[in-house]
Order: sequence, then C-alpha cells, then structure tokens
Amino acid sequence: ATPISITTAAGRGAQAGVLIKDAEALERMARVDTVIVDKTGTLTMGKPELTDVVAFDGATQDIVLSLAAALEHASEHPLAEAIVAGAKARGITPWTATDFEAVTGKGVKGTVDGQAIAFGNSAMMQSLGLDTDAATAAAEALQEDGKTAMFLARDGVLIGIVAVADPIKDTTAAALRSLHDLGLRVIMATGDNARTAQVVADRLGIDEVRAGVLPEDKKALVDRLRTEGRFIAMAGDGVNDAPALAAADVGIAMGTGADVAMESAGITLLGGDLTGIVRARKLAVATLRNIK
Ligand code: ADP
Ligand code: MG
Repeated sequence: ATPISITTAAGRGAQAGVLIKDAEALERMARVDTVIVDKTGTLTMGKPELTDVVAFDGATQDIVLSLAAALEHASEHPLAEAIVAGAKARGITPWTATDFEAVTGKGVKGTVDGQAIAFGNSAMMQSLGLDTDAATAAAEALQEDGKTAMFLARDGVLIGIVAVADPIKDTTAAALRSLHDLGLRVIMATGDNARTAQVVADRLGIDEVRAGVLPEDKKALVDRLRTEGRFIAMAGDGVNDAPALAAADVGIAMGTGADVAMESAGITLLGGDLTGIVRARKLAVATLRNIK
C-alpha cells in the first residue's frame, strides 16, 4: 500500500465503519502483535438462544426453566434475556424472585416461592459448596456442541441444567483468518467455560484460549502480556471488557456493545464486524510508513 496521512486513514476507516479516535490509536495499531478477543458479543452475535432444558430427579423441565427465568427477570446479562425469552416461548409463567443477587462472572441467586435458588456456572455451584459431578456428563455433552450450560440448584440440591447457544457472526471466521495472514496472534478471553470456549476457538482457528476469566482478570491478562513485551489490541463489547480495553495498547469496541466499552476504546467497529480490525491494521501500517 502507498503511504497515507492520518486524516486520510481516519476518513477511509470511517467509510468502512471503523471509527478511529486519534492518531495515537492508529499509530499503536501498526505495532500490535497480539489481538485478544472477548467471545460473547464480539466473536458471537451476543444473542444467545435457549436450546436445552435438563431436569434431574424430583424436578421437571418446566420447573427448572421457570425458576431460572424467575431469577433472570431481574438480571441484565445477555444470558438472562435468552432464558426469559425461552421460558416465554414455551408458555411458562415465571415465579417472582426476591433477595435477587447477581454474582459477576458466575450467575444469579435469590429466593423463589420460599426456596433458595441459584443459577449459574460450575464456579457458582462450587462457591455454594454444591457438587456438580452428577450433572457433569450432561453438561459436557452440551458444551461439546459449543453451548453454554448453566446449573440450577434449589435449596442446595442440583435439579437441572439449562443451555443456550450463541451463533458466531458471519464475518468472524474470515476476519480471524486475515489477522493470522497479517501475522498477528489471536487469543480468546472469555468468562465462559473452557470446553465451550475451546469448541468455538477450534471452529475459528484461534491460537490460544483463556476461559473462566473473571472481568477483572481480563485487564490483568492484558497487563501481564504487555509486561512480557507484547503489543496488545483488545477487542470487546461489554461493560466487563471496558477496563481491559482501556489497559490495552489499542482498545477496540463493538459499536453494537456497551457505551462504556466505546468510551474506553481507541477504535470502534460499527456493526461489530471484526473485519474492521483488519482494515484498521492495514490503514495503520500504511500511515506509519508515511510518518517514519
Ligand atoms: P462472558 O465473558 O462470556 O460475556 P460473563 O463473564 O458475564 O461471560 O459470565 C461468565 C459465565 O458466568 C457465563 O458463561 C455463565 O455461565 C455465568 N453467568 C454469568 N451471568 C449469568 C446469569 N445472569 N445467569 C446465568 N449464568 C450467568
Ligand atoms: Mg462480550
């Protein structure tokens, strides 16, 4: 490519839906060697849909889903929307929950109809001292399909599993292939479980997976890799991703995501199309050649 000015680069980026905040973001983009990507809402649509409900002895699928939906009514997590919509689609009227509490990166809990209900990942169950061994085979089968499985406990007893699937965006695979062709290493960092994360990563040829990552740990990962001398772009969409976006050499926010993510980022991809990272990189390299 021929050398171009920063103004030209910003203009070309904007035409392609790649909003570059300042010259610094563009210059740093040329030096990036590693791209860390969030999974949900960044690689995937961020619109999970309910796929499976499993009930163990003493419960029914309807009870499991109704209890999960009762808690998720009070949550703003994308997973919560999938559960509530899925319950509604199956004609289930959820109970009302009290004492609602969201546990970041793990799940939700509260009281429903006088019973203590918890709904979330295995870390959530472990923190409540609950053994998920009896449900492991069922959960693993769902995860091998790339689905996210969540456990439901009632009064300290595991009574079911609810699974959702979040489709990968049409544009993701090609964008990641191009990033590889440009010589960049791609690392996925997600709060989701290792098995589901690995299935998605394998479908996309991602180099490295960090799963079960709590929001504060995404920033820690960025900090650590930078200390090791890597030049990091971090791409994410969520409120949870904002600290990591701000800590990265270049933060890349999905225009489809949270406002705070865009405020923390140097580059915003309108429409959330990851092909924009490739575009930004090429523009950055062409611009830097001019400055040097
Ligand atoms: P991600 O990085 O995939 O956006 P989070 O860090 O928000 O995910 O959450 C990590 C995991 O914690 C989820 O995959 C899910 O298993 C569990 N979890 C978080 N919030 C909820 C919720 N509201 N309901 C059920 N499970 C949840
Ligand atoms: Mg996300």
